[in-house]
Amino acid sequence: MTQLTPQPGIMDIALYQGGAAHVKGVSNVVKLSSNENPLGPSPRAIQAMQDAAAGMHRYPSSDHAALRQAIGEVHGLDPEQIICGAGSDEIIAFLCQAYAGPGDEVLYTEHGFAMYRISALAAGATPVEVKERERVTDVDALLAGCTARTKLVFIANPNNPTGTMISEAEVARLAEGIPAGALLVLDGAYAEYVEGFDGGAAAAGARSNVFMTRTFSKIYGLGGARIGWGYGPKKIISVLNRVRGPFNVSSTALAGAEASVRDTDYVAQCRAENAKWRTWLANALGELGVPSDVSSTNFILARFASQAEAEACDSYLQSQGLIVRRVAGYNLPNALRITIGDEDACRRLAQAVKAFKAGQA
Ligand SMILES: *Cc1c(COP(=O)(O)O)cnc(C)c1O
Repeated sequence: MTQLTPQPGIMDIALYQGGAAHVKGVSNVVKLSSNENPLGPSPRAIQAMQDAAAGMHRYPSSDHAALRQAIGEVHGLDPEQIICGAGSDEIIAFLCQAYAGPGDEVLYTEHGFAMYRISALAAGATPVEVKERERVTDVDALLAGCTARTKLVFIANPNNPTGTMISEAEVARLAEGIPAGALLVLDGAYAEYVEGFDGGAAAAGARSNVFMTRTFSKIYGLGGARIGWGYGPKKIISVLNRVRGPFNVSSTALAGAEASVRDTDYVAQCRAENAKWRTWLANALGELGVPSDVSSTNFILARFASQAEAEACDSYLQSQGLIVRRVAGYNLPNALRITIGDEDACRRLAQAVKAFKAGQA
């Protein structure tokens, strides 16, 4: 028998733990563990995906021209500088596959998104984690962490699971300071939650060493469809299109995403609703002695006195049918990440934390 072994790095990848969706023996469960839009996709997106179902015997478009055109129109970007993927996760994987291999380093922050490490390892590269400053991306630490081997620097802005963001000036300072031959990747998964924010598009349009990723999984409510996109220098798009499979995105996902991106009123409505209940929930938990940093996303990172208290609260919430996310794996053992649900979910959550705190006293 042959000794079949995977490439170096592969077995160092810890299997991804998704947000739970069920609690044994508890009904009326609310899932607040995966930063999904509680309002669901735009009704226009649902209609477009239903319409697309009748044509499923045909292969999808392989150049995604209609979706890239729609994204370009809505965001004011050149469609030639856009690439679509099966979620932004796939774009992150393309970047690592194309630009980082054995001996190369991929930088990200201590509370950075799990896919940066996973995709770096899958490509055979070396993941390098740098410190944040009080749960905020630290540009100085990232610059200090760069070496001649650094190929990719990933930051999510705003970040998951901290919810914090850094300024355009700080992002520019990072782009200026990384080594020649390295690419700064701005992950804008939560960009739409910040009114007027371009997610880093201007930087990615102006600089040859900046790339932006975006997703339809968060404010657009299409996590199940698996679609995201990237924007940046044509040279990079041309490289990524060579590692991309020709039919990497389904026709339903393309149709749903196109209708979603054009439904700007729905996005604005989701953003406003999220902001309203995010403020309400953060204040309610704050009054109960559970603080959080100001969030620019659709979740809050609730901080407890200890890991034991965070875990006890999580267990209690589960018993009440409220599923939130433990983030010890993101070096945040004392915290729980709570997605902003609808009004009912936020009220239930605050009530449950109140009961948990009362039970502790
Ligand atoms: C949710 C999320 C994504 C999106 O992943 P998809 O593959 O597009 O679903 C990307 N980056 C961050 C930081 C996220 O939180």
